[in-house]
Amino acid sequence: NTFADVDLGDALNQNIRRCKYVKPTPVQRHTIPISLAGRDLMACAQTGSGKTAAFCFPIISGIMRGQAPQRPVRGARTVYPLALILSPTRELSMQIHDEAKKFSYQTGVKVVVAYGGAPINQQLRELERGVDILVATPGRLVDLLERARVSLQMIRYLALDEADRMLDMGFEPQIRKIVEQMDMPPPGVRQTMLFSATFPKEIQVHDIRYTYLRDDRKL
Ligand code: AMP
Repeated sequence: NTFADVDLGDALNQNIRRCKYVKPTPVQRHTIPISLAGRDLMACAQTGSGKTAAFCFPIISGIMRGQAPQRPVRGARTVYPLALILSPTRELSMQIHDEAKKFSYQTGVKVVVAYGGAPINQQLRELERGVDILVATPGRLVDLLERARVSLQMIRYLALDEADRMLDMGFEPQIRKIVEQMDMPPPGVRQTMLFSATFPKEIQVHDIRYTYLRDDRKL
């Protein structure tokens, strides 16, 4: 079982080869087929497990193949990303952004990162140049939503990285606000991938699970 056996689209397969990934890690082997099948998932994954690729590959592959949906034409400077990757910290967001950029090289898929603790202006300029995948920390994203510079209406993929850490850091109100901004699409239109190092009660039984993850189709 190697990446060469999985058709993720020529450009992405080539980038994976360039990164010298040959065999999927266990978390990749277990989650990528589920995500490619369009299903929601929760996965337990530590740092170093290869989780970044586990959520980036299906997102990039899906955007590459998907008919680019018609995004609203805007007079305003609002942008409409197709995928959102939420992560708890600036460092992790930067790391995800770096990897996602490598994976999306020459795919036509554009990745932008936005995190707090840094001036917003440069991030705004970057967003104005177009964005398919937005990597963001929850607080900064709420700021962008309040300024109406980002709309989540077109989101087709939502990845929550280190969900347990985001809850520990008190980001639940922000995450709730963010998810509320996404239209509830018909089943199968938006996919959610939740990655967490631990599965505390809040994630197991809390309505985070029912709010954000859903799978209405039969197994
Ligand atoms: P992550 O858990 O996403 O932070 O990834 C940990 C490290 O493993 C990163 O340096 C990745 O580039 C690397 N990596 C991820 N998946 C693979 C793979 N299938 N083969 C080789 N290296 C990988």
